[in-house]
Amino acid sequence: MTGTNMREFPALLEELGHVRHFAGGVVAGHPAADDVVLAVSELAANAVEHSAASRDFEVRITHLAGAVRVEVHDHGGAGRPRLGVAGAEATRGRGLFLVDHLSRDWGITHQPDHTGVWCEIGCSCTESPALGRAAA
Ligand SMILES: [Zn+2]
Repeated sequence: MTGTNMREFPALLEELGHVRHFAGGVVAGHPAADDVVLAVSELAANAVEHSAASRDFEVRITHLAGAVRVEVHDHGGAGRPRLGVAGAEATRGRGLFLVDHLSRDWGITHQPDHTGVWCEIGCSCTESPALGRAAA
């Protein structure tokens, strides 16, 4: 099995429960599972808020050695922050305080039709075994 679990979701608020369920299945049994699910929820809520409703967003969860990397990619939309906004402003606009608190590192990549937000939740695993199969 490959190291990345990914799934696409419609950019709708009612999908957030499915996102949490997916993330919970992926990280079931991992020591940082609760934090990962929280971070995924936050990033997904952001993606929904800032996406056009007609576009899907993608959630990726990868287990690295010493961290779980979470990525949420959306296609932007009318509500997304303007390109060229300074980093701190963009951060506030995206309401990522919780993610900043939970993760050892995180960042945002903006492209004209694509916004990606990633974060890494630290863990003490020295290897990077595949995460739960239940979500496959
Ligand atoms: Zn781990």
